[in-house]
Amino acid sequence: MKRVCVFCGSNPGHEPRFLEAATRLGAEIGSRGLGLVFGGAKLGMMGAVADAALSSGSEVIGVIPEDLHRKGISHSGLTELVVLPSMHERKAYQAEIGDAFIAMPGGLGTLDEIAEILTWAQLGLHLKPCGLLNVNGYFDELLRFFDSSVGHGFLKPEHREMLFVHPEPDQLLNAFRGYQAPTVNKWFKK
Ligand code: AMP
Repeated sequence: MKRVCVFCGSNPGHEPRFLEAATRLGAEIGSRGLGLVFGGAKLGMMGAVADAALSSGSEVIGVIPEDLHRKGISHSGLTELVVLPSMHERKAYQAEIGDAFIAMPGGLGTLDEIAEILTWAQLGLHLKPCGLLNVNGYFDELLRFFDSSVGHGFLKPEHREMLFVHPEPDQLLNAFRGYQAPTVNKWFKK
């Protein structure tokens, strides 16, 4: 694992603990000598994780679509800023260059990104570990939904279990070690 791709809010949230967690995750990535891939903006949780990773000596690659870049919100101090024509190309490129994926608290953009990368994992399109940094139980309702989806027969337990969930960055990054992707296919019946 060389680069961790982090999905997270472009807002900071109402409680200081969210930004504090973003800073801890960026610092942990840096202290392990890993690189960070993220959405490229200087705002909110995204800016905090990038700033902390840069301060810890990480290579930080921001990947942003052109229309957002034109709004002047890109982080100007990154190792590399990749500007791509569309959101779809941005997400595909993040998926390609990231070796593991973490979602921190965020809104619809964050949900879209982690849901997409999980759906690609359950189809076997990539074999990389995925996790939630569950700061103060932020994702508990989403996890209940996933459990309910298993109970109703729409999600296989093996695919629910591939998602690592921890409240602290060091626990989550440790959990990724030696990850083996599930080998079951997505469908209960063909
Ligand atoms: P949200 O959780 O709705 O704030 O969306 C955050 C996620 O969507 C980030 O991981 C970004 O990849 C993308 N995104 C949403 N808003 C922005 C923005 N203003 N600048 C860059 N990326 C954004």
